Amino acid sequence: MQNIDTYDFSGKKAIVRVDFNVPLDENLQITDDTRIRAAMPTLKKIISSGGSLIIMSHLGRPAGVDDRLSLRHLLPCIEKYLGIPVQFAGDCQKADKQASELKPGEALLLENLRFYAEEEGKPRGKFGSDEEKAQAKAALKESQKAFTAKLASYADCYVNDAFGTAHRAHASTALIAAYFPDDKMFGYLMEAEIKALDKVLGNPERPLTVILGGAKVSTKIGIIEHLLDLADNMIIGGGMVYTFKKAMGGRIGKSLFEEDQMETALRILDKAKEKGVKLFLSASVVAAQTFDNDAATRIFPSDDIEDGWEGMDVSADCIEKWKDIILGSKTILWNGPVGVFELDNFAKGTLSVAKLIAKATENGAYSLVGGGDSVAALNKLGYADKVSYVSTGGGAMLEYLEGIELPGIKAIRG
Ligand code: AMP
Repeated sequence: MQNIDTYDFSGKKAIVRVDFNVPLDENLQITDDTRIRAAMPTLKKIISSGGSLIIMSHLGRPAGVDDRLSLRHLLPCIEKYLGIPVQFAGDCQKADKQASELKPGEALLLENLRFYAEEEGKPRGKFGSDEEKAQAKAALKESQKAFTAKLASYADCYVNDAFGTAHRAHASTALIAAYFPDDKMFGYLMEAEIKALDKVLGNPERPLTVILGGAKVSTKIGIIEHLLDLADNMIIGGGMVYTFKKAMGGRIGKSLFEEDQMETALRILDKAKEKGVKLFLSASVVAAQTFDNDAATRIFPSDDIEDGWEGMDVSADCIEKWKDIILGSKTILWNGPVGVFELDNFAKGTLSVAKLIAKATENGAYSLVGGGDSVAALNKLGYADKVSYVSTGGGAMLEYLEGIELPGIKAIRG
């Protein structure tokens, strides 16, 4: 494995996997270019070191060639930030000539990798039987080798800067690395993400407080279990809480509830006790009778909610109790909203958590925030730069937090 800072790019062609999976509006205009900006340090470094760039990414989930998901729509934005013209290869498998003619300091963008099923290695379409599907999968595995080899043939070295897809073992995110045993490395974004996560998971300054929110226990169970081995405090809010409360014998009205997760919830409570982790489940909540922003509200203890009422957000009282824990932490990890954040009137708890984390960071704590809603809460307050690190990779970050070695990272480390 090489290092982007010390590798000699001079006269070399670098194929760089970035995550340019940006949102587009109906006029095919980019509505949030964060991901494109995030890749610029890596791309600029290669250009300024005398290398040339072959940039590759996916965009959306096409079922085949789909002009609305063409990376061509991103060219003006990429050129604006990179500050040089960028050529475009309209078929990522037919870029031999353009790639071979690239000169130092020049850049080429490949068309959406997912126009080919080979990128993901998942057969597309409907199959008559499981056997037919298995056959299609085996055939695709073979053609995936050729697909990957073609991409690799364009370049002298491989850089992976797509943290957002690092949990996928796709052609461009993992398989291609095998073609560059001595010339593969992480880009700056990937390095920064790994460093930030390791700062929390490795040897954090204590106390380490993990704040987890979100709708369901079932989607967070892996993270909760793994982090109970590491955390000093764990704060759990959001829809998840009610399954715990019901499992403990509480009354939760019509709050979100997963019957099949009751045992899991009890196991988590036992594990927290056994590990000496202080667990804080939102004790009192703001509830409504309808799932509506303008619904009338009442405060209930989270284990004694009247029939017909649904817990929607943590109460101000509850935030007051969490305040000392958050402000007393030296390391903080936050993922997931502690209420129905999409409805303004039930976003108060989540926004308060964001404010407390910013305050703790100002006081010297290290804070890592990830996940769409948590990051949106920071952005809503204009606080994105008031925490230590904002992770860009949703699914990838969650798997890393579960303690899973991500294929995109493993492929580079070898
Ligand atoms: P996740 O994707 O698991 O992080 O969950 C995020 C979703 O959880 C958001 O759409 C929130 O609206 C939802 N959520 C948070 N708290 C609650 C709650 N008390 N009741 C219902 N949904 C909630």
